[in-house]
Amino acid sequence: MSATMQNYIDEAEQALLHTYNRYQVVFEKGDGVYLYDTDGKKYLDFVSGIAVFALGYHNREYNDALKAQIDKIIHTSNYYYNLPAIEAAKKLKKISGMDRVFFTNSGAEAIEGAIKAARKYAFLKDGRTDHEIIAMNHSFHGRTMGALSVTGNPHYREAFEPMIGNIKFAELNDFDSVMEQVTDKTCAILFETVQGEGGIYPATEEFMHKVRALCDERDILMMLDEIQCGMGRTGEMFAWQRYGVKPDVMTTAKALGCGVPVGAFLMTEKVGANSLVAGDHGTTYGGNPLACAAVCKVIELFEKQNILDNVRETGSYLETCLNKVAEEFDCVETRRGVGLMQGLVLNRPVGDIITKAMDNGLVLINAGSNIIRFVPPLVIDRQNVDDMIDILRESMREVCGGAQ
Ligand SMILES: *Cc1c(COP(=O)(O)O)cnc(C)c1O
Repeated sequence: MSATMQNYIDEAEQALLHTYNRYQVVFEKGDGVYLYDTDGKKYLDFVSGIAVFALGYHNREYNDALKAQIDKIIHTSNYYYNLPAIEAAKKLKKISGMDRVFFTNSGAEAIEGAIKAARKYAFLKDGRTDHEIIAMNHSFHGRTMGALSVTGNPHYREAFEPMIGNIKFAELNDFDSVMEQVTDKTCAILFETVQGEGGIYPATEEFMHKVRALCDERDILMMLDEIQCGMGRTGEMFAWQRYGVKPDVMTTAKALGCGVPVGAFLMTEKVGANSLVAGDHGTTYGGNPLACAAVCKVIELFEKQNILDNVRETGSYLETCLNKVAEEFDCVETRRGVGLMQGLVLNRPVGDIITKAMDNGLVLINAGSNIIRFVPPLVIDRQNVDDMIDILRESMREVCGGAQ
Protein backbone atom coordinates (compact mmCIF):
# COMPACT_ATOMS: atom_id res chain seq x y z
CA MET A 1 0.00 0.00 0.00
CA SER A 2 1.24 3.48 -0.85
CA ALA A 3 2.00 6.06 1.86
CA THR A 4 -0.81 8.13 0.36
CA MET A 5 -3.39 5.42 0.90
CA GLN A 6 -2.10 4.72 4.39
CA ASN A 7 -2.51 8.41 5.11
CA TYR A 8 -6.14 8.36 3.93
CA ILE A 9 -6.81 5.43 6.22
CA ASP A 10 -5.17 7.18 9.18
CA GLU A 11 -7.28 10.25 8.53
CA ALA A 12 -10.42 8.12 8.34
CA GLU A 13 -9.62 6.56 11.70
CA GLN A 14 -9.19 10.02 13.21
CA ALA A 15 -12.55 11.27 11.98
CA LEU A 16 -15.03 8.43 11.56
CA LEU A 17 -16.60 6.64 14.48
CA HIS A 18 -14.99 3.24 14.55
CA THR A 19 -18.03 1.02 14.06
CA TYR A 20 -16.45 -1.14 11.36
CA ASN A 21 -13.18 -3.03 11.23
CA ARG A 22 -12.53 -1.99 7.67
CA TYR A 23 -10.38 -3.71 5.12
CA GLN A 24 -7.25 -1.68 4.50
CA VAL A 25 -8.21 -0.21 1.17
CA VAL A 26 -9.64 3.06 -0.14
CA PHE A 27 -11.77 2.55 -3.25
CA GLU A 28 -11.94 5.47 -5.60
CA LYS A 29 -13.87 4.45 -8.68
CA GLY A 30 -15.59 1.58 -10.37
CA ASP A 31 -16.14 0.35 -13.88
CA GLY A 32 -18.42 -2.59 -14.68
CA VAL A 33 -17.54 -5.39 -12.28
CA TYR A 34 -14.20 -3.85 -11.33
CA LEU A 35 -13.18 -1.49 -8.54
CA TYR A 36 -10.05 0.67 -8.42
CA ASP A 37 -8.31 1.86 -5.27
CA THR A 38 -6.52 5.17 -4.83
CA ASP A 39 -3.24 3.53 -5.91
CA GLY A 40 -4.86 2.51 -9.19
CA LYS A 41 -4.96 -1.19 -8.32
CA LYS A 42 -7.79 -3.09 -10.02
CA TYR A 43 -10.09 -5.51 -8.18
CA LEU A 44 -12.75 -7.93 -9.41
CA ASP A 45 -15.77 -7.17 -7.24
CA PHE A 46 -17.87 -10.06 -5.92
CA VAL A 47 -19.53 -7.98 -3.23
CA SER A 48 -21.12 -5.05 -5.13
CA GLY A 49 -21.32 -2.96 -1.98
CA ILE A 50 -23.14 -5.86 -0.29
CA ALA A 51 -25.70 -6.76 -2.93
CA VAL A 52 -26.32 -3.14 -3.90
CA PHE A 53 -24.65 -2.27 -7.17
CA ALA A 54 -26.48 -4.87 -9.26
CA LEU A 55 -25.96 -3.12 -12.60
CA GLY A 56 -22.22 -2.80 -12.19
CA TYR A 57 -20.36 0.44 -11.77
CA HIS A 58 -20.44 3.34 -14.17
CA ASN A 59 -23.52 2.22 -16.06
CA ARG A 60 -23.88 5.05 -18.54
CA GLU A 61 -27.68 5.08 -18.79
CA TYR A 62 -28.10 4.94 -15.03
CA ASN A 63 -25.60 7.75 -14.48
CA ASP A 64 -27.23 9.90 -17.16
CA ALA A 65 -30.69 9.42 -15.66
CA LEU A 66 -29.45 10.57 -12.26
CA LYS A 67 -27.63 13.56 -13.74
CA ALA A 68 -30.77 14.59 -15.63
CA GLN A 69 -32.86 14.34 -12.46
CA ILE A 70 -30.31 16.39 -10.50
CA ASP A 71 -30.73 19.16 -13.04
CA LYS A 72 -34.51 19.07 -12.67
CA ILE A 73 -35.10 18.64 -8.95
CA ILE A 74 -33.50 16.54 -6.21
CA HIS A 75 -35.97 16.95 -3.41
CA THR A 76 -39.43 18.18 -2.66
CA SER A 77 -41.50 17.03 0.31
CA ASN A 78 -43.88 14.13 0.71
CA TYR A 79 -46.58 16.78 1.17
CA TYR A 80 -46.46 17.13 -2.63
CA TYR A 81 -46.58 14.65 -5.49
CA ASN A 82 -43.54 14.16 -7.71
CA LEU A 83 -43.22 12.41 -11.05
CA PRO A 84 -40.33 10.00 -10.32
CA ALA A 85 -42.10 8.70 -7.18
CA ILE A 86 -45.32 8.05 -9.10
CA GLU A 87 -43.45 6.21 -11.83
CA ALA A 88 -41.24 4.27 -9.39
CA ALA A 89 -44.24 3.14 -7.33
CA LYS A 90 -46.08 1.95 -10.46
CA LYS A 91 -43.03 0.03 -11.65
CA LEU A 92 -42.45 -1.52 -8.23
CA LYS A 93 -46.08 -2.63 -8.03
CA LYS A 94 -45.73 -4.26 -11.42
CA ILE A 95 -42.60 -6.26 -10.64
CA SER A 96 -43.77 -7.31 -7.16
CA GLY A 97 -47.50 -7.83 -7.62
CA MET A 98 -48.03 -5.87 -4.40
CA ASP A 99 -50.52 -3.00 -4.23
CA ARG A 100 -49.11 -0.21 -2.04
CA VAL A 101 -45.63 1.25 -1.74
CA PHE A 102 -43.97 3.40 0.91
CA PHE A 103 -40.45 4.59 0.04
CA THR A 104 -37.79 4.78 2.75
CA ASN A 105 -34.11 5.77 2.86
CA SER A 106 -32.71 2.43 3.93
CA GLY A 107 -33.45 -1.19 4.62
CA ALA A 108 -33.77 -0.74 8.37
CA GLU A 109 -36.38 1.97 7.84
CA ALA A 110 -38.36 -0.34 5.57
CA ILE A 111 -38.42 -2.88 8.41
CA GLU A 112 -39.50 -0.19 10.87
CA GLY A 113 -42.40 0.66 8.57
CA ALA A 114 -43.38 -2.99 8.16
CA ILE A 115 -43.45 -3.42 11.95
CA LYS A 116 -45.65 -0.35 12.34
CA ALA A 117 -48.00 -1.54 9.59
CA ALA A 118 -48.37 -4.92 11.31
CA ARG A 119 -49.07 -3.41 14.70
CA LYS A 120 -51.59 -0.96 13.27
CA TYR A 121 -53.34 -3.70 11.29
CA ALA A 122 -53.77 -5.76 14.45
CA PHE A 123 -54.72 -2.73 16.55
CA LEU A 124 -57.54 -1.85 14.17
CA LYS A 125 -58.95 -5.35 14.57
CA ASP A 126 -59.16 -5.57 18.35
CA GLY A 127 -57.92 -2.30 19.86
CA ARG A 128 -55.26 -4.10 21.87
CA THR A 129 -51.62 -3.02 22.14
CA ASP A 130 -50.00 -6.26 23.19
CA HIS A 131 -49.53 -7.87 19.78
CA GLU A 132 -46.55 -10.07 19.10
CA ILE A 133 -44.26 -10.51 16.13
CA ILE A 134 -42.42 -13.74 15.45
CA ALA A 135 -38.99 -13.32 13.84
CA MET A 136 -36.23 -15.87 13.21
CA ASN A 137 -32.97 -16.75 14.90
CA HIS A 138 -29.89 -15.81 12.81
CA SER A 139 -31.90 -13.17 10.98
CA PHE A 140 -30.66 -9.71 10.15
CA HIS A 141 -33.05 -6.80 9.64
CA GLY A 142 -30.97 -3.71 10.38
CA ARG A 143 -29.51 -1.61 13.16
CA THR A 144 -32.25 0.80 14.24
CA MET A 145 -34.07 -0.12 17.43
CA GLY A 146 -37.13 -1.70 15.83
CA ALA A 147 -35.14 -3.56 13.19
CA LEU A 148 -32.66 -4.65 15.85
CA SER A 149 -35.51 -5.96 17.97
CA VAL A 150 -36.44 -8.46 15.26
CA THR A 151 -32.82 -9.35 14.46
CA GLY A 152 -32.09 -12.84 15.76
CA ASN A 153 -28.55 -12.24 16.89
CA PRO A 154 -28.37 -11.59 20.67
CA HIS A 155 -24.83 -10.27 20.30
CA TYR A 156 -26.06 -7.31 18.20
CA ARG A 157 -28.85 -6.53 20.66
CA GLU A 158 -27.29 -7.02 24.09
CA ALA A 159 -25.88 -3.56 24.88
CA PHE A 160 -28.97 -1.82 23.56
CA GLU A 161 -31.68 -3.48 25.61
CA PRO A 162 -34.51 -3.02 26.19
CA MET A 163 -35.69 -3.74 22.67
CA ILE A 164 -39.24 -3.03 21.54
CA GLY A 165 -41.49 -5.52 23.29
CA ASN A 166 -43.36 -8.64 22.29
CA ILE A 167 -40.90 -10.07 19.78
CA LYS A 168 -40.46 -13.83 19.78
CA PHE A 169 -37.96 -15.92 17.90
CA ALA A 170 -38.34 -19.18 16.02
CA GLU A 171 -36.06 -21.16 13.72
CA LEU A 172 -36.17 -20.61 9.96
CA ASN A 173 -37.38 -23.77 8.16
CA ASP A 174 -38.62 -25.32 11.41
CA PHE A 175 -42.36 -24.82 11.28
CA ASP A 176 -42.90 -26.49 14.67
CA SER A 177 -40.69 -23.86 16.27
CA VAL A 178 -42.97 -21.20 14.77
CA MET A 179 -46.06 -22.98 16.07
CA GLU A 180 -44.53 -23.02 19.55
CA GLN A 181 -44.38 -19.21 19.51
CA VAL A 182 -47.80 -18.52 18.00
CA THR A 183 -50.46 -17.13 20.34
CA ASP A 184 -53.73 -15.28 19.81
CA LYS A 185 -51.64 -12.09 20.05
CA THR A 186 -49.39 -12.89 17.09
CA CYS A 187 -49.84 -10.20 14.44
CA ALA A 188 -46.96 -10.97 12.06
CA ILE A 189 -44.35 -13.53 11.12
CA LEU A 190 -41.25 -11.92 9.65
CA PHE A 191 -38.30 -13.51 7.91
CA GLU A 192 -35.82 -13.14 5.07
CA THR A 193 -36.76 -15.35 2.13
CA VAL A 194 -33.04 -16.12 1.95
CA GLN A 195 -31.17 -15.25 5.15
CA GLY A 196 -28.16 -13.11 4.21
CA GLU A 197 -25.91 -12.01 7.07
CA GLY A 198 -27.02 -15.04 9.07
CA GLY A 199 -25.31 -17.43 6.63
CA ILE A 200 -27.13 -17.66 3.26
CA TYR A 201 -30.00 -19.93 4.30
CA PRO A 202 -32.85 -20.09 1.76
CA ALA A 203 -36.32 -20.73 3.17
CA THR A 204 -37.61 -24.14 2.16
CA GLU A 205 -40.66 -24.55 -0.04
CA GLU A 206 -42.41 -26.41 2.75
CA PHE A 207 -41.72 -23.69 5.32
CA MET A 208 -42.99 -20.95 3.01
CA HIS A 209 -46.22 -22.79 2.30
CA LYS A 210 -46.88 -23.76 5.91
CA VAL A 211 -46.29 -20.23 7.17
CA ARG A 212 -48.58 -18.89 4.45
CA ALA A 213 -51.34 -21.32 5.41
CA LEU A 214 -50.97 -20.50 9.10
CA CYS A 215 -51.11 -16.77 8.37
CA ASP A 216 -54.24 -17.21 6.24
CA GLU A 217 -55.95 -19.29 8.88
CA ARG A 218 -55.31 -16.83 11.74
CA ASP A 219 -55.16 -13.52 9.87
CA ILE A 220 -51.48 -13.07 10.76
CA LEU A 221 -49.38 -10.99 8.35
CA MET A 222 -46.65 -12.84 6.49
CA MET A 223 -43.82 -10.32 6.12
CA LEU A 224 -40.83 -11.11 3.96
CA ASP A 225 -37.56 -9.19 4.12
CA GLU A 226 -36.26 -9.07 0.54
CA ILE A 227 -33.70 -6.35 1.21
CA GLN A 228 -30.74 -8.53 0.28
CA CYS A 229 -32.26 -11.44 -1.61
CA GLY A 230 -34.67 -9.36 -3.69
CA MET A 231 -34.21 -7.30 -6.85
CA GLY A 232 -33.19 -10.16 -9.06
CA ARG A 233 -30.47 -11.70 -6.92
CA THR A 234 -31.96 -15.19 -6.88
CA GLY A 235 -33.10 -15.19 -10.50
CA GLU A 236 -36.59 -13.90 -9.72
CA MET A 237 -37.34 -10.24 -9.22
CA PHE A 238 -38.12 -11.12 -5.61
CA ALA A 239 -37.01 -14.39 -4.05
CA TRP A 240 -40.48 -15.33 -2.82
CA GLN A 241 -41.76 -15.41 -6.40
CA ARG A 242 -40.26 -18.83 -7.01
CA TYR A 243 -42.30 -20.43 -4.23
CA GLY A 244 -45.82 -19.71 -5.41
CA VAL A 245 -46.75 -17.93 -2.20
CA LYS A 246 -47.18 -14.21 -1.75
CA PRO A 247 -46.45 -12.21 1.40
CA ASP A 248 -48.82 -9.61 2.86
CA VAL A 249 -45.98 -7.19 3.44
CA MET A 250 -42.47 -7.13 1.99
CA THR A 251 -39.39 -4.96 2.29
CA THR A 252 -36.78 -4.09 -0.30
CA ALA A 253 -33.69 -1.84 -0.38
CA LYS A 254 -30.03 -2.56 -1.29
CA ALA A 255 -30.20 -3.07 -5.10
CA LEU A 256 -33.47 -1.13 -5.41
CA GLY A 257 -31.59 2.09 -6.15
CA CYS A 258 -28.27 0.46 -7.11
CA GLY A 259 -26.32 2.83 -4.89
CA VAL A 260 -28.67 5.73 -4.26
CA PRO A 261 -29.95 5.20 -0.71
CA VAL A 262 -33.54 4.01 -1.07
CA GLY A 263 -35.73 1.26 0.31
CA ALA A 264 -39.42 0.52 0.44
CA PHE A 265 -42.03 -1.51 2.21
CA LEU A 266 -44.89 -2.82 0.14
CA MET A 267 -48.19 -4.37 1.04
CA THR A 268 -51.30 -5.91 -0.43
CA GLU A 269 -54.48 -3.87 -0.67
CA LYS A 270 -55.89 -5.76 2.31
CA VAL A 271 -53.11 -4.44 4.55
CA GLY A 272 -52.93 -1.07 2.82
CA ALA A 273 -56.61 -0.40 3.42
CA ASN A 274 -56.47 -1.53 7.05
CA SER A 275 -53.28 -0.17 8.57
CA LEU A 276 -51.29 3.05 8.19
CA VAL A 277 -53.22 6.23 7.36
CA ALA A 278 -52.34 9.91 7.09
CA GLY A 279 -50.43 10.97 10.16
CA ASP A 280 -49.30 7.45 11.09
CA HIS A 281 -45.97 7.37 9.31
CA GLY A 282 -43.65 9.63 7.34
CA THR A 283 -40.16 10.53 6.26
CA THR A 284 -38.53 13.72 4.99
CA TYR A 285 -36.35 12.20 2.30
CA GLY A 286 -38.10 8.88 1.61
CA GLY A 287 -39.09 8.59 -2.04
CA ASN A 288 -37.56 11.87 -3.09
CA PRO A 289 -37.22 12.57 -6.83
CA LEU A 290 -33.53 11.65 -7.04
CA ALA A 291 -33.95 8.33 -5.23
CA CYS A 292 -37.04 7.48 -7.26
CA ALA A 293 -35.38 8.40 -10.55
CA ALA A 294 -32.78 5.79 -9.62
CA VAL A 295 -35.47 3.20 -8.85
CA CYS A 296 -37.20 3.86 -12.19
CA LYS A 297 -34.00 3.52 -14.18
CA VAL A 298 -32.89 0.41 -12.29
CA ILE A 299 -36.16 -1.41 -12.97
CA GLU A 300 -36.07 -0.30 -16.60
CA LEU A 301 -32.49 -1.51 -17.06
CA PHE A 302 -33.22 -4.82 -15.36
CA GLU A 303 -35.70 -5.51 -18.14
CA LYS A 304 -33.65 -4.07 -20.95
CA GLN A 305 -30.47 -5.92 -19.98
CA ASN A 306 -32.31 -9.21 -19.23
CA ILE A 307 -30.78 -9.28 -15.77
CA LEU A 308 -32.93 -12.17 -14.53
CA ASP A 309 -31.83 -14.43 -17.40
CA ASN A 310 -28.22 -13.62 -16.65
CA VAL A 311 -28.64 -14.35 -12.94
CA ARG A 312 -30.21 -17.76 -13.67
CA GLU A 313 -27.56 -18.69 -16.20
CA THR A 314 -24.46 -17.26 -14.51
CA GLY A 315 -25.79 -18.13 -11.05
CA SER A 316 -26.02 -21.81 -11.90
CA TYR A 317 -22.52 -21.68 -13.39
CA LEU A 318 -21.23 -20.04 -10.21
CA GLU A 319 -22.92 -22.79 -8.21
CA THR A 320 -21.21 -25.49 -10.25
CA CYS A 321 -17.82 -23.83 -9.87
CA LEU A 322 -18.21 -23.34 -6.12
CA ASN A 323 -19.29 -26.95 -5.75
CA LYS A 324 -16.00 -27.98 -7.36
CA VAL A 325 -14.06 -25.76 -4.96
CA ALA A 326 -16.02 -27.30 -2.07
CA GLU A 327 -14.91 -30.76 -3.22
CA GLU A 328 -11.28 -29.75 -3.69
CA PHE A 329 -10.62 -28.13 -0.35
CA ASP A 330 -10.70 -29.94 2.98
CA CYS A 331 -11.52 -26.70 4.78
CA VAL A 332 -14.82 -26.28 2.90
CA GLU A 333 -17.86 -27.95 4.41
CA THR A 334 -20.51 -27.04 1.88
CA ARG A 335 -21.96 -24.51 -0.53
CA ARG A 336 -25.36 -22.92 -0.01
CA GLY A 337 -27.42 -20.34 -1.85
CA VAL A 338 -29.59 -19.39 -4.79
CA GLY A 339 -28.65 -17.59 -8.01
CA LEU A 340 -26.04 -14.92 -7.41
CA MET A 341 -26.40 -15.12 -3.63
CA GLN A 342 -24.04 -17.88 -2.61
CA GLY A 343 -22.10 -18.90 0.46
CA LEU A 344 -19.12 -21.19 0.88
CA VAL A 345 -19.21 -22.64 4.38
CA LEU A 346 -15.78 -23.34 5.86
CA ASN A 347 -14.73 -25.17 8.99
CA ARG A 348 -12.57 -22.19 9.95
CA PRO A 349 -12.79 -18.37 10.09
CA VAL A 350 -12.64 -16.84 6.63
CA GLY A 351 -11.20 -13.40 7.46
CA ASP A 352 -7.65 -14.15 6.37
CA ILE A 353 -8.81 -15.76 3.12
CA ILE A 354 -10.77 -12.62 2.30
CA THR A 355 -7.78 -10.43 3.12
CA LYS A 356 -5.57 -12.61 0.94
CA ALA A 357 -8.10 -12.38 -1.90
CA MET A 358 -7.99 -8.58 -1.61
CA ASP A 359 -4.20 -8.73 -1.97
CA ASN A 360 -4.78 -10.84 -5.06
CA GLY A 361 -7.27 -8.39 -6.55
CA LEU A 362 -10.61 -9.93 -5.61
CA VAL A 363 -13.20 -8.36 -3.31
CA LEU A 364 -15.17 -10.87 -1.22
CA ILE A 365 -17.08 -10.60 2.03
CA ASN A 366 -18.04 -12.91 4.86
CA ALA A 367 -21.46 -13.83 6.27
CA GLY A 368 -20.85 -14.76 9.87
CA SER A 369 -17.29 -15.77 10.79
CA ASN A 370 -16.91 -18.91 8.70
CA ILE A 371 -18.83 -18.28 5.49
CA ILE A 372 -17.50 -16.59 2.36
CA ARG A 373 -20.38 -14.74 0.73
CA PHE A 374 -20.68 -14.15 -3.02
CA VAL A 375 -23.06 -11.32 -3.95
CA PRO A 376 -21.55 -9.93 -7.16
CA PRO A 377 -23.07 -7.38 -9.55
CA LEU A 378 -25.87 -9.15 -11.43
CA VAL A 379 -24.21 -8.35 -14.75
CA ILE A 380 -21.23 -10.69 -14.28
CA ASP A 381 -20.47 -13.27 -16.95
CA ARG A 382 -18.86 -16.71 -16.97
CA GLN A 383 -15.43 -15.28 -17.59
CA ASN A 384 -15.78 -13.15 -14.43
CA VAL A 385 -16.75 -16.30 -12.51
CA ASP A 386 -13.72 -18.18 -13.89
CA ASP A 387 -11.43 -15.29 -12.95
CA MET A 388 -12.94 -15.13 -9.47
CA ILE A 389 -12.55 -18.88 -8.94
CA ASP A 390 -8.88 -18.73 -9.96
CA ILE A 391 -8.12 -16.05 -7.39
CA LEU A 392 -10.27 -17.73 -4.76
CA ARG A 393 -8.43 -21.04 -5.22
CA GLU A 394 -5.05 -19.33 -5.07
CA SER A 395 -6.02 -17.39 -1.94
CA MET A 396 -7.43 -20.46 -0.20
CA ARG A 397 -4.35 -22.49 -1.09
CA GLU A 398 -2.11 -19.80 0.40
CA VAL A 399 -4.10 -19.62 3.62
CA CYS A 400 -5.40 -23.11 4.34
CA GLY A 401 -3.69 -25.39 1.86
CA GLY A 402 -5.54 -28.65 1.43
CA ALA A 403 -6.18 -28.40 -2.31
CA GLN A 404 -6.05 -31.82 -3.84
C1 LIG B 1 -28.84 -4.95 4.77
C2 LIG B 1 -30.08 -5.56 5.30
C3 LIG B 1 -30.99 -4.82 6.10
C4 LIG B 1 -30.70 -3.42 6.56
O1 LIG B 1 -30.59 -2.53 5.53
P1 LIG B 1 -29.87 -1.11 5.77
O2 LIG B 1 -30.06 -0.38 4.49
O3 LIG B 1 -28.44 -1.41 6.09
O4 LIG B 1 -30.56 -0.46 6.92
C5 LIG B 1 -32.16 -5.44 6.48
N1 LIG B 1 -32.44 -6.70 6.11
C6 LIG B 1 -31.61 -7.43 5.34
C7 LIG B 1 -31.99 -8.81 4.94
C8 LIG B 1 -30.39 -6.90 4.94
O5 LIG B 1 -29.55 -7.64 4.20
